[in-house]
Amino acid sequence: MDHATADTTPRHHRVIIIGSGFSGLGTAIRLKEYGEEDFLVLEQEGGIGGTWWVNRYPGCACDVQSHLYSFSFELNPAWSRLYATQPEIRDYLNHCADKYDVRRHVRLRTAVKRLLWDESRRCWWVETDAGHWSADVVVSGMGGLSRPALPDIPGIQHFRGRTFHSQQWDHDYDPAGERVAVIGTGASAIQFVPQIQPLVQRLDLYQRTPPWIVPKPDRPIAAWKQRLYRRWPAVQKLVRGAIYGVLEGRVLPFAINPRLMALPQRQALRHLRRQVPDPELRRRLTPDYTFGCKRVLISDDYYPAVTRPNVDLITAGISEIREHSVVDGDGNEREVDALILGTGFHAADPVPEGMIVGRDGQDLGTLWRDGPAAYKGTTVAGFPNLFFLMGPNTGLGHSSVVYMIESQIRYVMDALRRMDRERITSVEVLAEAESAYNARVQSRLSGAVWNTGGCRSWYLHPASGRNVTLWPEFTWRFRRQTRRFDMAAYRVERGSPRAPHITPARRGGAPGRE
Ligand code: NAP
Repeated sequence: MDHATADTTPRHHRVIIIGSGFSGLGTAIRLKEYGEEDFLVLEQEGGIGGTWWVNRYPGCACDVQSHLYSFSFELNPAWSRLYATQPEIRDYLNHCADKYDVRRHVRLRTAVKRLLWDESRRCWWVETDAGHWSADVVVSGMGGLSRPALPDIPGIQHFRGRTFHSQQWDHDYDPAGERVAVIGTGASAIQFVPQIQPLVQRLDLYQRTPPWIVPKPDRPIAAWKQRLYRRWPAVQKLVRGAIYGVLEGRVLPFAINPRLMALPQRQALRHLRRQVPDPELRRRLTPDYTFGCKRVLISDDYYPAVTRPNVDLITAGISEIREHSVVDGDGNEREVDALILGTGFHAADPVPEGMIVGRDGQDLGTLWRDGPAAYKGTTVAGFPNLFFLMGPNTGLGHSSVVYMIESQIRYVMDALRRMDRERITSVEVLAEAESAYNARVQSRLSGAVWNTGGCRSWYLHPASGRNVTLWPEFTWRFRRQTRRFDMAAYRVERGSPRAPHITPARRGGAPGRE
């Protein structure tokens, strides 16, 4: 059902969840299990799945093994390959929505525009492009990689051909026989470049920084294995556990001793040597920073695509874009029919200014101008009853974020349980607890390869240089920290606030107030 909420349905809910990706859906499922039915999931897109609904560029796939990149409570014995592709992950999430009966709580095509904390009622006003709601508690599952970053290149607005970002792939566009410029060589671009290269007449690939790339040990999962997993789920759990263990081992070189990166770096150089015979092209594809500093990419078909005669790797930068051409930093002008932007996301600035306004009119976007920070990546002083999933410093450079998301959901559920049991109306993390926590996280990050490896990446905030995205330790440590809601770190309000009241039929208007 697209629109679960008609004008006559409640406008106030116990919980409003933003987003229906792994975070939002996982929270919805746990709320149902807890017996809470009074919640709404607001999803701006036309379908369930978050990033896996919206990113559908050719070749889109996950670079974490599917056995681990899935909910712990809903293993999927039918994964067709080790590294699932986007349609399969999107279908998996939709299967979860149906199996756990949360689809009827989801309201699609409803983009949250503003959240406003009402201290007198101790609730959040939620303004969307399809009406207003209020909620005691808001759980944000907006994800860190949802706002595309468009490059600010002189003249780009004058380009007359097709232009689109990888996240907004134009499927009406047929690249066959076209002259295409691709800007960016990150995780998304290295997946779609090999898909379009055989089709296009010419592909100009604008690389600012070469990524480190290692082989992708992908393969189909045999039917007998799928049967085995279906018959004995414990076997799949074992496989999942083994993958988890291997990936956790990577914390050592990434976060504790980056000198250990010498070994995987040699493996990546071997991969490059094997796949790119031309020494001059190889030189331009070789990174000059430590392996792991930027996200390590896995691919077997990217380098071969770059070696094809119809591909030109351009490393001189872009000085200007004209109506029908791109001019590189050396002054060479190349005519193109389309411009595809693989330029990433506003990951370090997840909340625009003016979007979330907390206690005493505090604006979260302004507070986070020098980079986001939160307590356990989840709560922020001044913003009661608001929980971020995949918030600051919960991202991973080495394993599956679904593990982190499930840890945070557990924390939020424990908070809700305690609020219900102890008749608590609001919880707000103490500023001291939040800053002490972040000081610890930043101190651990100071020796990690992401901070010391000599590169610029979206992990670091552009203004402050602070690493605001990654968790710097073993993931089980994060799970241990979020096992229980630690009330001692919070300011707690009890008693009855004024009842929330929204006039039911005023869709699109301001919330009704007493
Ligand atoms: P990205 O990794 O941030 O890559 C953006 C690319 O665009 C970089 O090569 C960057 O160069 C370049 N770029 C950005 N602005 C530019 C400009 N103004 N001029 C020239 N080049 C510019 O973005 P992404 O590839 O979309 O991936 C983002 C993240 O999404 C990934 O790191 C990953 O976490 C996630 N992702 C995951 C998967 C998966 O398999 N799980 C797949 C796709 C994406 P610089 O390096 O010089 O900045």
